Amino acid sequence: MSRTQENTRILLARRPHGAPKPDDFRVVTESRPEPGEGEVLVETLYLSIDPYMRGRMNDVKSYVPPYEIGGLMGGGAVGRIVKSCSPDIHEDTIVEGMLGWQQFAVAKPRHLRIVDPRIAPISTALGILGMPGLTAYFGLLELCKPQPGETVVVSAASGAVGSVVGQLAKLKGCRTIGFVGSEEKAAYVKDELGYDATLNYRVIADLQKEMSELCPDGVDVYFDNVGGPITDAVLDNLSQHARVALCGQISQYNNTRPEMGPRNLWKLIVTRSRVEGFLVTDFGQRYAEGISALAGWLADGTLRYREDIVQGIESAPAAFIRMLEGENFGKLLVRVDTPE
Ligand code: NAP
Repeated sequence: MSRTQENTRILLARRPHGAPKPDDFRVVTESRPEPGEGEVLVETLYLSIDPYMRGRMNDVKSYVPPYEIGGLMGGGAVGRIVKSCSPDIHEDTIVEGMLGWQQFAVAKPRHLRIVDPRIAPISTALGILGMPGLTAYFGLLELCKPQPGETVVVSAASGAVGSVVGQLAKLKGCRTIGFVGSEEKAAYVKDELGYDATLNYRVIADLQKEMSELCPDGVDVYFDNVGGPITDAVLDNLSQHARVALCGQISQYNNTRPEMGPRNLWKLIVTRSRVEGFLVTDFGQRYAEGISALAGWLADGTLRYREDIVQGIESAPAAFIRMLEGENFGKLLVRVDTPE
């Protein structure tokens, strides 16, 4: 069988206990699937590696069903249509969709979004012009409604979502403060993304104190990607009528037992603050609006982005493990090349 007749796929071998390990995944090579009537065959070019995938590895009830043991690791990808059995979409079209961790996927055109390579590099359809960018756009602008002069704090500030949140807040005339996990990330978010200040949570001993010194008038908006002690420190420093968007809690995803929750919720009472969780899919009807706004700001140089790209589909599990340790620097992607 020639290489292009094969399909390398990454399966969930077992449910991780705590931090995922390489043995929790299995790499298999199967024959390339064939599209049926009305379907297309997509060759993966980029896989998206995202924090939410950790939650789907657990057998718990959530907003989406868990991955099955022995089943494909699901997730977003960008690829090229190499065979079309549909009148709706032709070969060579670049598309984005939930294609999973595999070299080739059969899909129905209605489940795919066409990506225009003239607008931006196609990989951005998984980052700033895709799910993470939309999360930042709707989470910040719709839930938090940042006003000029307000202080906006973002955790995981250098990441796929956080990097966009900080730049959008700046665009709205806010003062922006980002939590990061290294000095290199701190320099990037300040110098490249325009954040006003950064906090490296790995080296600061007293986050509460540092926050209160940096935000003497309090935090008006907190976009939370992380949870845990960082969130405790921010909640302790909210201003009156602050808005907190709960986007993610990555510091908790590998926990085998839930951590003790925040004890300072009374701060929400005295500051009359609002905490709201959301999923980007809540705004599914408005994705075109979000992509168009983000693409405009990308084209005129208002927004910048950074990608962390690893090579080869077999690298996906290690990249995923690395991200949960905070070691990715930018939107994490796997470049998948199928040799002829
Ligand atoms: P990302 O920020 O590009 O990558 C994850 C980053 O999280 C790491 O680089 C690391 O940055 C930080 N991190 C990891 N472990 C940490 C820990 N224990 N404590 C503090 N920080 C830690 O990932 P992303 O795709 O943009 O996702 C960010 C968050 O948004 C995740 O929680 C994700 O689940 C959530 N999300 C939610 C939605 C939604 O619809 N609600 C959609 C997309 C994403 P540092 O080195 O700076 O710590």
